[in-house]
Amino acid sequence: MALVNENYLKLPEYYVFNEIEQKINAHKVIHPEADVIRLGQGDVSRPLPDAVIRAMQNAVAELADVKTFRGYGPECGYRFLIEKILKYEYQTRGVNLSADEIFISDGSKSDVGNIGHIFGRDNIIAITDPVYPVYENAAIMGGRSGYLTDDDIWSNIVYIPCTEENGFVPQLPAEKVDIIYLCYPNNPTGIALTKDQLKVWVDYALENKAIIIYDGAYSAYIREDNIPHSIYEIKGAKKCAIEIRSYSKTAGFTGLRCSYTVVPKDIIGYTMNGEVLRVNGLWNRRMTTYYNGTSYVVQRGAEAMYTKEGQKQYKEIIDYYMTNAAIIREELTSLGLDVYGGINSPNIWVKTPYKKDSWRFFQELLYDAEVVCIPGDGFGKLGAGYFRFTGFNSRENTEEAMKRFKKWMG
Ligand SMILES: *Cc1c(COP(=O)(O)O)cnc(C)c1O
Repeated sequence: MALVNENYLKLPEYYVFNEIEQKINAHKVIHPEADVIRLGQGDVSRPLPDAVIRAMQNAVAELADVKTFRGYGPECGYRFLIEKILKYEYQTRGVNLSADEIFISDGSKSDVGNIGHIFGRDNIIAITDPVYPVYENAAIMGGRSGYLTDDDIWSNIVYIPCTEENGFVPQLPAEKVDIIYLCYPNNPTGIALTKDQLKVWVDYALENKAIIIYDGAYSAYIREDNIPHSIYEIKGAKKCAIEIRSYSKTAGFTGLRCSYTVVPKDIIGYTMNGEVLRVNGLWNRRMTTYYNGTSYVVQRGAEAMYTKEGQKQYKEIIDYYMTNAAIIREELTSLGLDVYGGINSPNIWVKTPYKKDSWRFFQELLYDAEVVCIPGDGFGKLGAGYFRFTGFNSRENTEEAMKRFKKWMG
């Protein structure tokens, strides 16, 4: 008799994004002529930079020739890409890392979920509320969330409130936590942390022998000077932080798949007996056992991002999305709404008008204006009463959606 992983049964009943699709489909069945604009989308819309495409075409040609053909690559990534990451992502910001601290992967979502593998079941995990739902779901499926208490809260998860009152900046918890998931610039709130605000968490982690999992999926969107692009810009972070970065939102790799995770060798974890272990070695073991490397073609594409023209091209794409974000910000602000984010991030977090319930607001906006937002509760209990827009759609759709929104609100 095959037993299943019963942790899967503990997952919340619906996944918000499925629910949204069902509602959109139902609307389209009743109104086949509907021209629905998805302004909450988490996926990019601009094509890949030219430099990336050309590098991949060359790589494909190499694979077509017996003299340059390549099979399995290194599990943790090709040296050519790792070296560019070290140089362009880190050395330029005064951060020195070594090649065996960088692990190339097929996406941040996989790593954010899989990283739990190398940690014990009894850690107390801190997760901000609201946030990207994968951290919590992965903890539940991996059996790391503990049991559900009478208050409907996981015994091993501490939720760090990010609300209007604290400017969506996470404050240290009263109880002790061991693993801390931070995502900045944040999805969904679009808020970025300053060096001082992030230092509070690095200091906490160092003092409490905790480890921070830092999801920097939106670091390329940072515009303001006092915002760190990497957690390693904070002193001591190399001893306590794992940083996960993705090319998805940076350069349109959502369909291609490429990301990297940094696990510095200075980070240590403990066994129940108090033995000290390097977390880097565990992650290396996990990668080499469960993974056979990101495709050569894709890694060549990612490498091309660091050429002169690659950099110019991906920055133009980011500017495009950020201009969309600015258009949304300005329009909603001028309508008197409370608008957050959109300055160091393509994510825009908005309070629903008249304290409307997020789902009701979502439905009215869909039915009346044919514009789709993501209801805030999809990102956690404290997301209720908010909705998310992003700058990821086309300029034309963004402008049209704002026109409809304005007409609808008026
Ligand atoms: C989009 C997103 C990711 C996804 O990254 P992939 O590399 O495409 O898997 C990870 N984290 C956050 C917060 C995101 O918004």
